[in-house]
Amino acid sequence: MVQSNSLLAPHPDELLGSLLARRAWAAAHNPASFVKSMDLTRDVWSRDIDRSVNATFLEKFAEGLCIGRAQLDAMTVNSFLAQCGVPVQAIGFEPWITYVGLVQWARKRYGQMYCCRCLGAPDRYLRRDWRIATNWFCPEHSLLLQDCCPECRKPFTPYSNDELVLARCGRCAASLCGRESLSVSGCDLELHGHLERIWNDAFAGKPGPLCALYRHLSEVTARDPRFARAGEHWSYWRTWERAELLRSQEGRIMRLACHPSRGALVWCGYNRARDVREKPKRSTSMPTDPQVRAQLLLDLARKVRWPRRSRARVSQ
Ligand SMILES: [Zn+2]
Ligand SMILES: [Zn+2]
Repeated sequence: MVQSNSLLAPHPDELLGSLLARRAWAAAHNPASFVKSMDLTRDVWSRDIDRSVNATFLEKFAEGLCIGRAQLDAMTVNSFLAQCGVPVQAIGFEPWITYVGLVQWARKRYGQMYCCRCLGAPDRYLRRDWRIATNWFCPEHSLLLQDCCPECRKPFTPYSNDELVLARCGRCAASLCGRESLSVSGCDLELHGHLERIWNDAFAGKPGPLCALYRHLSEVTARDPRFARAGEHWSYWRTWERAELLRSQEGRIMRLACHPSRGALVWCGYNRARDVREKPKRSTSMPTDPQVRAQLLLDLARKVRWPRRSRARVSQ
């Protein structure tokens, strides 16, 4: 049981790791020793607890932070996505969340966004919206969201080296709120309004438009020559790349958000996990007929993908 909770209450849209980091700072602990006092190991921080948290952790957090389990569970992105009708799982790929590429305490990917002015506030914390793939600016300040240090370009790693509570880069010590981002245009604000309506519909029990939007974006990025060579699913893209994608699809997004019968849209855009036991086994032997073999090799060559750009989205 942690003795000093310092009465820091969670914000309504705060992520679980953010509250833990703030409580740890207020109790003069580092994040690793703070969870240790809850009878947990520092391995907690090498998992994406902002995405989902298992039952054991949840119980210990609830006891240590003196907050109800349901309230803590609601502070994960998966809990929000599940309420919006999105199929979620603890690990592996899932729609709409951005990826941080956790390797021990380091984050290799740029999926954790932040607003430089929100981080400049004295009671700074991580918003849930900073892990959702349709967000690229802060609606409160109308500034573009950042996903790396403005000086050394390292991905934002909020729980390592007290980056969140100090609003400083853990590698070069540059202030994360010292350099102002670009403002967004009126078109961006309008587009964000449409996306917000789609999310609100999903949260209110009408997930059809959100699902249709997901399917549409996935098809566009696979077929449109502007995006087809991106090499990775668009959830892995940098913030500015996703913003470009959404801007290019403004017409479709507006129609989905404003269609009078949008509540009746069919919910069929997410890929379901297939039962591998029912899948027929593929033959791995080559056919003996040279013509058939040549045709097979040609078919395989056609399936070869363009060079991937994924390395550009991973911190070295
Ligand atoms: Zn902001
Ligand atoms: Zn830096």
